[in-house]
Amino acid sequence: MGRLVCGPAGTKSMKGAKQTTLRDQIAVSGVGVHSGLPVTLTLNPAGDDKGIVFRRVAADGSIEREIRADVRAVTATEFATVLGDASGPICSTAEHLLAALRGLHVDNVIVEIDGPEVPIMDGSAAAFVDAIDQAGLTARAQPRRYIEVIKPVRVSKDGAVGELRPYQHGFRVEAEIEFDHPMIGKQALALDIEPNIFRHEIARARTFGFMRDVAKLWSAGYALGANFDNTLVVSEDRVLNPEGLRFADEFVRHKVLDAIGDLALAGQPLLATYRTIRGGHKLNHAVLSALMADPTAWRVVEAAAEPARRTRGYAAAGMAAAAYAPEVS
Ligand SMILES: [Zn+2]
Repeated sequence: MGRLVCGPAGTKSMKGAKQTTLRDQIAVSGVGVHSGLPVTLTLNPAGDDKGIVFRRVAADGSIEREIRADVRAVTATEFATVLGDASGPICSTAEHLLAALRGLHVDNVIVEIDGPEVPIMDGSAAAFVDAIDQAGLTARAQPRRYIEVIKPVRVSKDGAVGELRPYQHGFRVEAEIEFDHPMIGKQALALDIEPNIFRHEIARARTFGFMRDVAKLWSAGYALGANFDNTLVVSEDRVLNPEGLRFADEFVRHKVLDAIGDLALAGQPLLATYRTIRGGHKLNHAVLSALMADPTAWRVVEAAAEPARRTRGYAAAGMAAAAYAPEVS
């Protein structure tokens, strides 16, 4: 059987979905926001069940280290999500790329990177979305497998609350932020994350930071590559970037973007609602870790082969019955 092409990433419904990968290799170059180092990232097609794999490559193209993007591979969550293993970090600031891959339903990909940090580009996921759309997606043989949340899991930490709840229709994010700042204040957004919603409502929302924190960040070795081209910078009473905001509520939209990226580390797409109040990378990681640690809170389900012919109960979400028990060690 020939390959089924999905056209510009993910216009297909999740019902009956096959796993996808890129049709072509595509490269993106930029600098790391924290390291300030130049880096080239190459997205490569990958086979079924490979997941999202990060591969550090040397200047001559040889493979130095490789790691599957997974919650257990998170080595730090200060200001960015860092992936690594026992011998140290492999790739920092992975969340915006992860959000683009998950937001556009790219299941399998090998991300080759020749530096320690994913390039920040314009501070949003837009450049990664453009790259994925340019490469295009191909549906493969195996059905997509989801992690279905079957019991609420909640974490509260330092005034922040994160909760995953059952939601059979896909992945939904309900985010709320509150900053004592005239440009931000209280913002809330709730969206079902489908590729076109991600592309138009979330992907372009940029990283933000406060001018008052810059000196502190720099002295701690963070944000060395940050500038007005890749970070929304907020002073006491205004946004300093000359072009202003892309959305009136760009701040909460970026929090949704970060949450999608951080929760992509479930390793498979989630069937769940994620509610986050005053959250960040640390909270996202804590909630996902709590979910994974409770094998009674989730199960793996496969997308039904032909949802239109399924009985009514299955057709609601296009899901077959649980195919696998949780793998928790
Ligand atoms: Zn971010």
